Amino acid sequence: MPSRLGTQNRAARPFPSACPLFFERCFPVIVESLVIGPFEVNTYVLYLDGGHDAVVIDPGDAPREILELLSRHRLNVTHVINTHGHGDHIAGNAALKAAFPGAKICVHPRDAHMLSDANANLSAAFGFSVTSPEADLRIEGNTELAAAGIAFRVEHVPGHSPGSVCLVPLDAGTLVFSGDTLFAGSIGRTDLPGGNTGLLLAGIRDKILSLPDETVVYPGHGVKTTVGVEKRENPFVGAGGL
Ligand SMILES: [Zn+2]
Ligand SMILES: [Zn+2]
Repeated sequence: MPSRLGTQNRAARPFPSACPLFFERCFPVIVESLVIGPFEVNTYVLYLDGGHDAVVIDPGDAPREILELLSRHRLNVTHVINTHGHGDHIAGNAALKAAFPGAKICVHPRDAHMLSDANANLSAAFGFSVTSPEADLRIEGNTELAAAGIAFRVEHVPGHSPGSVCLVPLDAGTLVFSGDTLFAGSIGRTDLPGGNTGLLLAGIRDKILSLPDETVVYPGHGVKTTVGVEKRENPFVGAGGL
């Protein structure tokens, strides 16, 4: 089941029931992913090959699995980046902050209030109340963020939530972490509070589909895809789509 907090109901390609964990070298960055919690959030752990510091993107529930992965590589978390403030993407923030008190929780200012409010982050409505410590760092669109030795460009792509961001590592080939904006064959749902279909479609086209076709898209749920495939086949933003 794809997350009802994440995707449109209509998806061109079905999500697999469970996504394999993966470990990829996008020199010099290592990307590991875990699929976590009832909403099957993709949690990504990024670190430099041979490095000791790590960035965790969207820690879902079941933080034990994330902590085990970090401990296996003896990694210290310097930044926890939430692509947006929905409960499924922030559920592991508190545990990571407890384990790594120096870690900076990063979120866009327009979603920052969701972290500490189970109603605003929709977890209460979906039957799993979660809250997070407050943001340490508010990340704006069109800026750069240096985290664990990795430089990211932050792009603001609102429409699934007002403060959704995508993250583009600058020195790791062509990758983008798209959160709940663009999925393989789908886009983020826009009927939740603060949603806006027009903004989401425009943001995906301007900020993601403008990247080179070979760019690998790592979404917040489901399998990875590429910009080229989504430009051709995505029924919402691709050729012949809406
Ligand atoms: Zn989600
Ligand atoms: Zn979401």
